[in-house]
Amino acid sequence: KSKIKVKNPIVDCDGDEMARIIWKMIKDKLVLPYLDINIKYFDLGIQNRDATDDKVTIQAAKAIEEFKVGVKCATITPDLARQKEFDLKQLWKSPNATIRNYLEGTVMREPIMIKNIPKLIPTWKKPIVIARHAHADQYKATDINIPSPGTLQLRFIPDDDSSVQSWDVAKFSSQGVALAMFNTHKSIKGFAESCFAYSLSRKMPLFLTTKSTVLKTYDKAFTDGFNEIYDKYKAEFEKNGLLYEHRLIDDMVAQVIKGEGGYVWACKNYDGDVMSDLVAQGFGSLGLMTSVLISPKGVFEAEAAHGTVTRHYRVHQKGGETSTNSIASIFAWTRALSHRAFLDGNKELEAFSAHLEKLVIDTVESGKMTKDLALIIHGDKIERQHWLSTEEFINEVAIRFNKK
Ligand code: NAD
Repeated sequence: KSKIKVKNPIVDCDGDEMARIIWKMIKDKLVLPYLDINIKYFDLGIQNRDATDDKVTIQAAKAIEEFKVGVKCATITPDLARQKEFDLKQLWKSPNATIRNYLEGTVMREPIMIKNIPKLIPTWKKPIVIARHAHADQYKATDINIPSPGTLQLRFIPDDDSSVQSWDVAKFSSQGVALAMFNTHKSIKGFAESCFAYSLSRKMPLFLTTKSTVLKTYDKAFTDGFNEIYDKYKAEFEKNGLLYEHRLIDDMVAQVIKGEGGYVWACKNYDGDVMSDLVAQGFGSLGLMTSVLISPKGVFEAEAAHGTVTRHYRVHQKGGETSTNSIASIFAWTRALSHRAFLDGNKELEAFSAHLEKLVIDTVESGKMTKDLALIIHGDKIERQHWLSTEEFINEVAIRFNKK
């Protein structure tokens, strides 16, 4: 058989533990046998990040920027226990955060829908894509203790010679706490740009949520920023019958629970943190959540939303049988390849990605799946015959795919 020619490269970021094992199987069995593709490989495994003083992560981010399409395996974000385990020089930062900050991107989390996997929220029929504005707010806040009675002030000192402004925040008559947080118009508009572009490419309506009734200035920066970018996209949205609306976050959660899904939900940073876990649980398994990083610079990086699945890796290290779900990692590859196809105008590659996605879903719908999914169906009545091991599942997909 002749392979499909892929004109431009894809940047491949390898990772750690069980995710790394799955990653290699996917490449060897589902990608490389079919594609004539130039893969720019970066090893973001914890040992190589340590050996390169984490320079490899920045190199990978630069390569993704250059070639526009990346695919990333889950990686360890070290804590003290990990530092000891791998004898690390430092507590290196999360590679995801490094890449996201470099590309100034927005993360879109989207569940993969499979008919025979029951959902915790039975009304959900279509994906809910959470777009999280992963910049500042609570995550870069000045978060302080107030040690004694006194006055808390906020001051702004301009770089030019205009006058200093100050605000009285609170008069404390006893000890307390305080928080100052910020965001920038540039980042908010970049977020809006990514959300409109992704909604359009997935042909899904877009909702932005805020609490602008309370934060009349802060959250208005979000509604105004989105309105401004929407002016650019309005004609395209209308042509595709797509809707953009701002909603109050409390109205939105009520509608999310009652509705059937099928939209992109643009969340502020903290809301996105909370809501993405809620949505992931509601749809079933972490093994069915994909995650895509879109940047206003037109860069695309896909990954599975889950981590390195350390719990399974420990079993694997002892020679035990594992049943780790590889679907989100396979979809990271198909989404990246499909974006490559879109940028290069490569119809064959587009068909390849769509086929592989459909086949993975068909495989599960025919009753062949990993244990996490079998547990959702069978609960405590689960038996060994209900599930496949990590390798058995990928092999099953590979055999079916090869037949097609
Ligand atoms: P995890 O997502 O790896 O696993 C949490 C639990 O979810 C597992 O014990 C398992 O029960 C279930 N699970 C997750 N993915 C699954 C899959 N594909 N198949 C079956 N079950 C699955 O999160 P964790 O255990 O908190 O973290 C492990 C490591 O992963 C940590 O070192 C952390 O730093 C890293 N991590 C990386 C990323 C990333 O690279 N994007 C994200 C989260 C965590």
